[in-house]
Amino acid sequence: MLQKGLCVDCGACVGICPYFKSHAGKIAMLFSCNLPQGRCHAHCPKVELDLERITQATFGKPYDGSPLGHYSEIKKARAGARLQGRGRFQNGGSVTALIAFALKSETIAAAALTGSLGLTPVPVLATSEAEVIACAGTKYMAAPSVASVNDYLRSGIGNLGVVGTPCQIAAVAQARLNPLNKPGFRDVVALTIGLFCTWAVDTRSFGALVGDKTDACAVTAMDVPPPPASVMEITTTSASYAIPLDEIRKTIPGGCAICPDMTAELADVSVGAMEGEPTWNTLIIRSARGAALVEQAVRGGYLELADLPLASQENLARGAAGKKKRALLKAREDRLLNVDPASGRSAMLIDDSVVQRILAG
Ligand SMILES: Cc1cc2nc3c(=O)[nH]c(=O)nc-3n(C[C@H](O)[C@H](O)[C@H](O)COP(=O)(O)OP(=O)(O)OC[C@H]3O[C@@H](n4cnc5c(N)ncnc54)[C@H](O)[C@@H]3O)c2cc1C
Repeated sequence: MLQKGLCVDCGACVGICPYFKSHAGKIAMLFSCNLPQGRCHAHCPKVELDLERITQATFGKPYDGSPLGHYSEIKKARAGARLQGRGRFQNGGSVTALIAFALKSETIAAAALTGSLGLTPVPVLATSEAEVIACAGTKYMAAPSVASVNDYLRSGIGNLGVVGTPCQIAAVAQARLNPLNKPGFRDVVALTIGLFCTWAVDTRSFGALVGDKTDACAVTAMDVPPPPASVMEITTTSASYAIPLDEIRKTIPGGCAICPDMTAELADVSVGAMEGEPTWNTLIIRSARGAALVEQAVRGGYLELADLPLASQENLARGAAGKKKRALLKAREDRLLNVDPASGRSAMLIDDSVVQRILAG
């Protein structure tokens, strides 16, 4: 059962049945439902996310609680010559470049991305390079992006690419396991690109905060520069504003506080910012499929790679370990870590020995 206040608006329950809708940054349940089980709960990243089962299914390896999850290589990356100067990328444009190349090489037929309508993030199913480039840039709001994966399922076409935050990628990974053994199930996902994420903000509360300072519809970009800045920078069509992170943090959904994943550990490739070099990305190659795509994208001129300094890797691992530890402590305090005997509830399942290892780290 989902504990009230944990929803991160990922969209995993939207479009499966007529009951759930996403509206202006909130998931609404339109009618009450008395089914004992449903895909809405089985795919939700905040209901009994079984990290061992899902990690085994994705990589054939156990969930060991290591800060960055399973990976083969960590590099520094940015969009290659083919895409340079062609979009308003958040950082190096590696996400846009990888998806654009995956479409061009027919590794995927479409990509589930996140665009925006005014300040509100909206799911987009992109099938052309222009549509991929139009989705570039981070919307720091929790977004119902997984809803378009559910839409795509109905199209009957395969080979979908998905770009998402750790909770969105976890929801997709759960859906791919066909947890309720639905007959005729087909895994349509051919590629997952995960985004690093420390937290997202709630669209409505954040919109109200931004609306006090400027016309929210005029926002063209947002960024959280690294410490010691401690602000979110908002750029509009005519000005820029810095909102203190202390104000922004009040708009973070409760579910983010129990998220143990900073680097989208269940993705084929994970991408984040690079400390000190805002026009590059940190890129984590996790699966063989991810490694093949990265190699081909480099050969095709879509992506440029360089070595990531060891100090940056160590900082990243420290940040990710810190997020894991804080999440487990909060989940334990709220009785959401493994099944609570009194309420029967749990947000995530992690073996006790792994919990001890994370907390001791
Ligand atoms: C909520 C959020 C929090 C983040 N926090 C961190 C962090 O703490 N540390 C860090 O290093 N990086 C973080 N990132 C990732 C970072 O902002 C960049 O997305 C990443 O570095 C890729 O840069 P890029 O230039 O390759 O992206 P681009 O090429 O500009 O592509 C951005 C992609 O992000 C997708 N996207 C945009 N907004 C959302 C959203 N709300 N939900 C899902 N997908 C979205 C778009 O579909 C687009 O394909 C965060 C991203 C998000 C969405």
